[in-house]
Amino acid sequence: MDWHSIKTFFIEHASSTQVLLFTTIITFLWLAEKIFLAEQAGRKWRHSSVNALFILTALPMQVAPTLLLMSLSSWVVTHHWGLIFLLPNASNPWIKYGLMFVALDFLDYVYHVTMHQVSGFWRFHLVHHTDRKLDVSTTVREHPGETILRNFFLLAWVFMCGASFPVLVLRQTVQTVSNILAHTSFRLPAGPARILGWIFITPNLHHVHHHFQLPYTNRNYGDVFSIWDRLFGTFTELPAEKTVFGLDTHMDESINAKYLGIVAMPFRKIPAVHTHSESAQSN
Ligand SMILES: [Zn+2]
Ligand SMILES: [Zn+2]
Repeated sequence: MDWHSIKTFFIEHASSTQVLLFTTIITFLWLAEKIFLAEQAGRKWRHSSVNALFILTALPMQVAPTLLLMSLSSWVVTHHWGLIFLLPNASNPWIKYGLMFVALDFLDYVYHVTMHQVSGFWRFHLVHHTDRKLDVSTTVREHPGETILRNFFLLAWVFMCGASFPVLVLRQTVQTVSNILAHTSFRLPAGPARILGWIFITPNLHHVHHHFQLPYTNRNYGDVFSIWDRLFGTFTELPAEKTVFGLDTHMDESINAKYLGIVAMPFRKIPAVHTHSESAQSN
């Protein structure tokens, strides 16, 4: 099997190979967290199963946008539409894959900042932040309303940049693996965390984003690369012993640990506690 046929197989079977890859990594890390961090099985299972229910709402929400993304990416490539085609040698694989990957990562940073700063979007995104315990299952804790919003933004980015479907498959694979790793309960030792953190979002850096109070909740927005946070002044570090997971407006576990309570969150009034009032978010 040569490189070309491996690539073709991967793109043609993108959904099934991705599901298999992500399920394997999540299962492996979940078991590793359970064993090495000596977590109590019943408690971990209860926490993870609530988060896992979000997969059931995300999967049907993902079908129509995926089909739209496939048609749109083929349209932009056929019509040479998008910023990438303004560059010379747009068909050069290094430019096509490398530059588009970096551009899409920057646009995901923009998307994440927007979800925090626009109060109507924050209502949906806060669901991800209300988890009082962070582990690999938090990766899939996304309100179905955010799944729709995220796909709208992605369609806009593809239209703007001219991203082809293979680029999107590569991007989504790397991005999801990076997201899964960022949410694991494991942290890197200080040395490697500092070195990797110059370029990448490590678990240590994403844990800061899940700290319950501002300004930490509005820091380390990056998806794969941490360079955007460094460039735009949103980069911060916080030691593990000072990090408290959750969101100060939604600390009540009788609501934020129950599936229906979580799903209803965007439609309820956000309590004005500490620094996390709605006005603080829309500023
Ligand atoms: Zn966030
Ligand atoms: Zn997160």
